[in-house]
Amino acid sequence: MFDQNLPTYIHTFETYPRWKTFQSEHYIFHYFAESEAEKDLEHIVKTQESAYQKIITTLKLDNPGKLIEYYFYPNEATKTALMGDDWYAQAILNEFRVHVLYTKKDKPLGEHEDTHLLSLPWGLSFGLFNEGLAESMVGHAWDGTPHLAYVKEGYAKGMYPALSELMDHQGWLNSPEDGRVMYWYSLVGAFTAFLIQQFGIECFGKLYRNTRRENTKEQNSTVFQSVYGKTISEVEEVFKNFR
Ligand SMILES: [Zn+2]
Repeated sequence: MFDQNLPTYIHTFETYPRWKTFQSEHYIFHYFAESEAEKDLEHIVKTQESAYQKIITTLKLDNPGKLIEYYFYPNEATKTALMGDDWYAQAILNEFRVHVLYTKKDKPLGEHEDTHLLSLPWGLSFGLFNEGLAESMVGHAWDGTPHLAYVKEGYAKGMYPALSELMDHQGWLNSPEDGRVMYWYSLVGAFTAFLIQQFGIECFGKLYRNTRRENTKEQNSTVFQSVYGKTISEVEEVFKNFR
């Protein structure tokens, strides 16, 4: 079982009688009649099935042998009433489910949440690489801007600590709420993409499988150095010049 911090999570959605359901090759989608999700269903299925293929192929993962279940909520109040939280999107690791707030304005689809689920055979690394891997699969920030554009700006504004400070899970949790979605997700996404590009997916898989949420910075840094033959600070310097 994976340890996720979801104190308000409830399962009212499971017994909610009015879901409409559509099953595709790798997903079951639940949505409301006449909702934005129902209108976009064809697009949703196409987007997620292609995300699935991209993740499995790029990361060289095995097919999990079970379907990912998506729940689309038409507004914040309904999402809160049925699953306990109004945030845009959450993957529930132990249930292989994703809960999404899907409205005319916000349509969080794509690779991010599915990467959290499909990479579980590698275990659960800490924030830097867990969120980094999900974002590297997306390839751009929430608003479509390339990660590196935000990263450049973030460094110029002195928004980031040294990456060595992010080598435990708390380091990620310490990211300021203001600016996290754009600047911090972009940083970890761009750095992870850089590692995969420069040193290959095998090395990254090894790093991911051997680092842990419960590890200290020192423990995770030791694993990093043993995989890449360089310290996190040395690789960070290369990354900063590269971007
Ligand atoms: Zn995430």
